[in-house]
Amino acid sequence: MAAPLRVAVVGSGPAGAFCAQILTEESGRDVGDLAVDVFERLPTPFGLVRYGVAPDHQKIKSIVASLTEVFETPGVRFFGNVTIGSGAGCDLTVDELRAHYDAVVLASGAPLERRLGVPGEDRAGVVAARDFVSWYSGHPDAAFDTSVLAAERAVVVGVGNVALDVARMLVRTPDELRRTDVPEHVVEALAGHRVREVCVVGRRGPEHAKFTNKEFLELAAIDGADVVVSPDDLVLSEQARAVAARPAAARLLASLQKVAEREPQGRARSIRFLFHRTPVEFAGRTDIDTAVRAVRLAHTQRPEIVEDLPVGLVLPAVGYRGRALAGVPFDNTSGTIPHRDARVVDGERVLPGLYAVGWVKRGPSGVIGTNRLCASETVEALLADAADLAGSGAGPEGIEALLRARGVPVVDWSRWQAIEAAETALGERTGRGRVKLHERDAMLLAAGVAG
Ligand code: NAP
Repeated sequence: MAAPLRVAVVGSGPAGAFCAQILTEESGRDVGDLAVDVFERLPTPFGLVRYGVAPDHQKIKSIVASLTEVFETPGVRFFGNVTIGSGAGCDLTVDELRAHYDAVVLASGAPLERRLGVPGEDRAGVVAARDFVSWYSGHPDAAFDTSVLAAERAVVVGVGNVALDVARMLVRTPDELRRTDVPEHVVEALAGHRVREVCVVGRRGPEHAKFTNKEFLELAAIDGADVVVSPDDLVLSEQARAVAARPAAARLLASLQKVAEREPQGRARSIRFLFHRTPVEFAGRTDIDTAVRAVRLAHTQRPEIVEDLPVGLVLPAVGYRGRALAGVPFDNTSGTIPHRDARVVDGERVLPGLYAVGWVKRGPSGVIGTNRLCASETVEALLADAADLAGSGAGPEGIEALLRARGVPVVDWSRWQAIEAAETALGERTGRGRVKLHERDAMLLAAGVAG
């Protein structure tokens, strides 16, 4: 009889969860012959679905129902509140997982922001979109100083879907926010903020905008703000017209054109798109001023044109990058784990039993469903190697013993369900639907594992 196959997955976001799902569906193994343990550093599952997808995109978040089914499949276990890595704050190393499981799949995502490398980027008021997203999503590690919301103008750098998410969240009304699961302190801070104009700045022309037409149309229809597109930005060069002929770009340009022709309605807030501009400096008022007061924008087609835009909040939304894991090769340039067909490589050498999936494998692109395709490729490689791998690890019992010995308060699936119940109860108390807990201690208390 073939030895059982024991797999550890690091990360419980869509990529990790899809891996667990496809493994159980396609391994051809019965319960008992396949064990998939998913490790997650937060007490809560679902990664970016919980902490990245915008709170007002409940339809996208409904994927949680099918991800829940994955974690409730016999043979799949959730180990929340367990950090994989090395050094302070880490509970288990990748090497320990490799020693105890037959295969380890790294699905640790892209939790860090990409930097612009522009002078003044460290000034107060320049806040990575990632930090703003984490804060309004109730991430327990979010660091966001709400005093920057006293600014009258915010500039979002980048024209991807994250840029649209943060711009939209800045103009949502309190009623709209209360219909989501964002924590009450977020609703209050966003309800009272003073930002009147949000400028969304793209370094190339609109034909290269990365946001999708669906997301732009949603923004264009928002009640809380006038959306302003300059007709001048939509005048295309011959070269640009070739790009704009592609179906997705053509649809988006048609939508931008319609909005450019609209008369502003005089709403209290506006979102203004600026293309062909890039920040070259985030300036203070004086040499000793540590806060951002103006963004110096250079025109990318005519660099001699430079404009200073007074501003108190800058949100660079220029992409994410992965974080290196001790004991795992890492490509610092791309912020991803080097791999060949999902098998992690160290130079030319394949590291047996080690795989990557999701954003840490292919970089931060695509929608949630893209991770399913990515997970299929990873599982296919793992199952092709399964005959050699099965039985090679010492067994998950050793990992459970290590966690006990180290006093790690593991949040298993039933404890996560207790957190969910506490969030539902919190919502009921405040007359809202479910409301997220945003402090780790409160989550652990609700889970019944607070030390
Ligand atoms: P993205 O789509 O890659 O957009 C990044 C933007 O930043 C681009 O406009 C890019 O411009 C710009 N940029 C990069 N480096 C820059 C620099 N040095 N200076 C100025 N601009 C710079 O990334 P994202 O918005 O973070 O989204 C990540 C992924 O999640 C995407 O696949 C996105 O579609 C997905 N997502 C989807 C949804 C949704 O479906 N609703 C919501 C959020 C995110 P260039 O093109 O010129 O490089």
